[in-house]
Amino acid sequence: MSFTTEGIILRSIDYGESDRIFSLLTSTHGKISIFVPGARRSKKRSAQALDLFVKIAAEVKSRRGRSTLLRLADFHYLDFGLDIRKDLRRIIAACVFLESVQKLTAEMDHHPQLFELLDGFLTRVGEKPLENLDLDLGISLFHLLAAVGFQPCFDRCTQCGASVDKAAVKQRYYFTAAAGGITCSRCRVNFQSDNPIDGGALKTVQQLTKQKIPLQRIRLRPQLSQWLQPTLFDMIQFTIGAELKSLRLLPLMAQKKDNADDNKRPTIKPRVTGSRARPGRRAV
Ligand SMILES: [Zn+2]
Repeated sequence: MSFTTEGIILRSIDYGESDRIFSLLTSTHGKISIFVPGARRSKKRSAQALDLFVKIAAEVKSRRGRSTLLRLADFHYLDFGLDIRKDLRRIIAACVFLESVQKLTAEMDHHPQLFELLDGFLTRVGEKPLENLDLDLGISLFHLLAAVGFQPCFDRCTQCGASVDKAAVKQRYYFTAAAGGITCSRCRVNFQSDNPIDGGALKTVQQLTKQKIPLQRIRLRPQLSQWLQPTLFDMIQFTIGAELKSLRLLPLMAQKKDNADDNKRPTIKPRVTGSRARPGRRAV
């Protein structure tokens, strides 16, 4: 098998003494794994910047006798992801999204809109301003879940089917990952769930996910922003049956937000599952 494609690096894993395996989300074949022998000792300058967030145009070929692990026959860079690396909050948001894509997708399982979703999110993460980064991450995770077939139900009770009523602002709803969405107060008794949200806020979530409100123009109520991200993290972790390790970095993101300083370079290098973010200095 041989094909050309665009790809974004989701993860890199050191293998053996000097090799490395990259996981890429491609525009044509979904997620693929590429084996690069000698990657950590290579003196080739062209491969030195292969790292998280990087987008490449690649020619990919099967390894002899193996169908799942591919090799990088040729490539050139389309985007180094440098705009993301200049700020710790941007790095963490991008790492959470990359790990979510990595764990929610299977090898060679192509979802056409997924590459565009990831590419668009990383582009926005690299751009200023930062005010709506949390919200963008939440909405993008919603679209990610929808793209891979696990869209959470936010518009009606998953148990009795009652629609969310914006007029009943006091009406409380509760998210339960096991139910795949929200439950109304009456149906909640069957689930262990907290973090309530009212009908009016849920209507705003629906409009945001349908892109009826531009992110740049919205100023979220604290209740909504505190509800959306944890809810989607719960849904993703329930779906994959494992922890998202990059979520351990979120307290740093909040801390950084408090001391907001866009121009300061990050001093903490985040780790994603089996990988390291070493901006720009990877010797391949
Ligand atoms: Zn109900």
